[in-house]
Amino acid sequence: MLIRFRGVRGSYSKPLRPKALKGKISSVVQRIKTEDLESPVCREKFLSNLPDVIFGTVGGHTSCVEVRLSDDTLLIFDCGSGLSSLDEDLRKNRDDIRCIHIFLSHFHYDHLAGLPYFSILFDKNVEVFFYSPSEELEENITTFLRKPFHPIGIDAFGAKLHFITLKGSGIKLGNSNISWIKRNHPDTCYAYSVEESGKKIIYSTDTELTESDFKRDSRTDHFFKRADAIILDGQYTLGESIEKYNWGHTSYSMSVDFALEHEISQLFLFHHDPQYDDNKLEAILRSSRWYCQRAVKKTELKIDLAREDREIVI
Ligand SMILES: [Zn+2]
Ligand SMILES: [Zn+2]
Repeated sequence: MLIRFRGVRGSYSKPLRPKALKGKISSVVQRIKTEDLESPVCREKFLSNLPDVIFGTVGGHTSCVEVRLSDDTLLIFDCGSGLSSLDEDLRKNRDDIRCIHIFLSHFHYDHLAGLPYFSILFDKNVEVFFYSPSEELEENITTFLRKPFHPIGIDAFGAKLHFITLKGSGIKLGNSNISWIKRNHPDTCYAYSVEESGKKIIYSTDTELTESDFKRDSRTDHFFKRADAIILDGQYTLGESIEKYNWGHTSYSMSVDFALEHEISQLFLFHHDPQYDDNKLEAILRSSRWYCQRAVKKTELKIDLAREDREIVI
């Protein structure tokens, strides 16, 4: 399976400000030595050795994750503003996509903001399947795309739209099994797991972990245990999570504890707070790794930030 992060922010979009971009360029210029410019190879080597915080950005778009199954089936988890970059790539690469599967965790704006501008929806040769365990799936999407909030209604889209309310414990798509579990978040949120060829990834955004999440039972064990990767809400620092108790998000340290508890191999901290800049997010990553090394529960856990445009093969 292939994961591409299209939008990694929570709450609202946070484009890199011009001042921040100038700061990054200035930091790069200060590091250049004459020998770094001697040849294209030297220049590329210099650039590839720069830290992410200088030569890059974590990203400003809200939640959207692309997953490709081994047969190239396209799954999309949430339709935040990051959906626009997937849309751009689909058009640029002229992908002959005829079927798209969109799984919605919940209906907050930051998870839907990209949907009205997803140009694939105008293609009458495409079928789009929306999935959610919510009975209000179709009604919520139709309301979201209604005038005067959007200049055209859902009927203007040429694609054949299907709204599937998920029932039971799982569905099959191609060679994959997809299941879901309810999470603690205002208005309810669902996490999804995708299993294919013995590999499992979990998308669990907008989750406020509590003590009960650490009391394991057969359902949570089956869902989370020994997953290969989890994309998990780690929006806050510990202090802020106490201050913002009941806002529906989790501290990065608790996300680390959770991943360790369930013996998960890789953790991608996700739904980054829009008030945190790249420096702060890199500091959070360092602290997460430091915290993990000192944790009582010892399992191998790789931690990284979910970063826009990054591709991960699982
Ligand atoms: Zn959110
Ligand atoms: Zn939310």
